[in-house]
Amino acid sequence: MAKRDYYEVLGVSRSANADEIKKAYRQMALKYHPDRNPGNKEAEEQFKEAAEAYEVLSDSEKRQRYDQFGHDGLRGTGQQGFTDINDIFSHFGDIFGGGIFDDVFGSGQRTRRRGPRQEGTPGSDLRIKLTLTLEEIATGVEKKLKVRKQKRCDVCSGTGTRAGSTKTTCPQCNGAGEIRQVSRSMFGQFVNISTCPECDGEGRVIKDPCTTCGGEGRVQGESTIKVNVPAGVSEGNYIPLHGQGNAGRRSGPSGDLLVVIEEEPHSYFTRNGDDIIYDHLVSFPVAALGGEVEIPTLKGKAKLTIDPGTPSGRMLRMRDRGIPHLNGRGSGDQLVRVNVWVPTRLTSREKELLKELGSAEHMTPTEEERRASGRSFFEKMKDAFS
Ligand SMILES: [Zn+2]
Ligand SMILES: [Zn+2]
Repeated sequence: MAKRDYYEVLGVSRSANADEIKKAYRQMALKYHPDRNPGNKEAEEQFKEAAEAYEVLSDSEKRQRYDQFGHDGLRGTGQQGFTDINDIFSHFGDIFGGGIFDDVFGSGQRTRRRGPRQEGTPGSDLRIKLTLTLEEIATGVEKKLKVRKQKRCDVCSGTGTRAGSTKTTCPQCNGAGEIRQVSRSMFGQFVNISTCPECDGEGRVIKDPCTTCGGEGRVQGESTIKVNVPAGVSEGNYIPLHGQGNAGRRSGPSGDLLVVIEEEPHSYFTRNGDDIIYDHLVSFPVAALGGEVEIPTLKGKAKLTIDPGTPSGRMLRMRDRGIPHLNGRGSGDQLVRVNVWVPTRLTSREKELLKELGSAEHMTPTEEERRASGRSFFEKMKDAFS
């Protein structure tokens, strides 16, 4: 088929300047743009023809040669016209990228670049609870989690196609991945852009789906995932494991797995920030005479000295025996609240001894000591924590 005259194609005179040629080409490109003529082969050919004409006439050297020798003058210059629409877009990106289509189609709607989007659909994120003891939190721990999730189909390697078959261009959107509907009204032109329902935006469809996954490219399964929990985490913290969530549909990227920390209540420790509070009962003789007691901590037993005359309720601080700070150096403390134990089962001999002790000179508080003990609870607490 003989090639049409390039000036004729663009509808400009032979003396048109660069701006006039550019303007004419824009108009042609708009008119025959594949987005506006979905499935129209004739428009596509005209679009290609205009692009070819523009490529020559916008280049002064090529234009001069064409003016002198016509189409023959371009032989051997690699000037062969365009076979692929996408070549045109990559070739004249400066024109198409300049927003000329946005003007027509309305800005804000064209958030995606033209053409089918990346293959597949991303997988969703997963959340999984991980319950830890205070001891595990204090040291940090490595855990293995069994997670039920969508995994890549091994039979089709996630493509969704049956072995030996390939995907074909979506017949509904011609591979564009989106459907455009142009409507005119007295207020102007409106364009509705929606994801192609046939191919879900991919531009290609599976004719012969993998029988194992039904064309999804992923199947329900279970994975064992190792997670390293640093020391010092708290209830509600989460550890994101990138790409360990549900597999994407048809080779789409996997989602993330969020491991959400839960703290198991401890049978005798209470957590307060990174401090650990522990109630310790001592006998009256130890409280009065002092002594060394053994205290459980998150990392085994430790010795604690009780000073002579330690009152019930006094808080003793064991430095750095608490939970390590998550994002820094050092640790919280263990606070030991000393409580004097009052016996309830006594032999008659023990009762006799206590009665004798009770009448001794220093076993009953003086009036002054009673008053001191009557200070507000708040002040006592301040004391205890100092
Ligand atoms: Zn489609
Ligand atoms: Zn499969």
